[in-house]
Amino acid sequence: MEHKCLNCGITSDEVILLACRYKDESLFVCVKCLPILIHGSH
Ligand SMILES: [Zn+2]
Repeated sequence: MEHKCLNCGITSDEVILLACRYKDESLFVCVKCLPILIHGSH
């Protein structure tokens, strides 16, 4: 199964994705978007 960043939609073929849990769902976020999620979208 192909995973995509929840924020920008990039796939794990192109960038490192990190697995997250949110409301009992598995989500993936790339290393570029992780700081955005932590600090809030601008
Ligand atoms: Zn991303």
